[in-house]
Amino acid sequence: MPECLFCRIIAQEIPAEIIYEDEQAVAFRDINPQAPVHVLVVPRRHLPNLGAAQAEDEDLVGHLCAVAAELARRERIAKSGYRLVANVGPDAGESVHHLHFHLLGGRRLTWPPG
Ligand code: AMP
Ligand code: ZN
Repeated sequence: MPECLFCRIIAQEIPAEIIYEDEQAVAFRDINPQAPVHVLVVPRRHLPNLGAAQAEDEDLVGHLCAVAAELARRERIAKSGYRLVANVGPDAGESVHHLHFHLLGGRRLTWPPG
């Protein structure tokens, strides 16, 4: 799916600061960071968003969350705290239609979110 921005990043057709890769997942820094740590954790396989995940994708989604938790430790925000966000649909502001979790931390995050 070459027209998908994140598929192109995963294929290394578009540069990104990739900080983690395994067989199922890739993580890279957000180009427009909203916090000192802002990493996107994505599946290698194209899935439009969390709402498109099927029962057989549960292990993959769990793996993405586990990778995010590991990256929070590596980025040294595990103790201070962090947020894991998946924007789904227009009200959430989903703009790239390839499933991704935002890992945000390194500053106090407000709640409720905007
Ligand atoms: P969302 O709005 O949840 O779909 O998030 C998409 C995210 O992708 C935004 O935070 C963008 O800043 C980020 N983004 C867009 N293009 C790139 C890129 N080329 N490299 C890294 N992050 C990007
Ligand atoms: Zn894609």
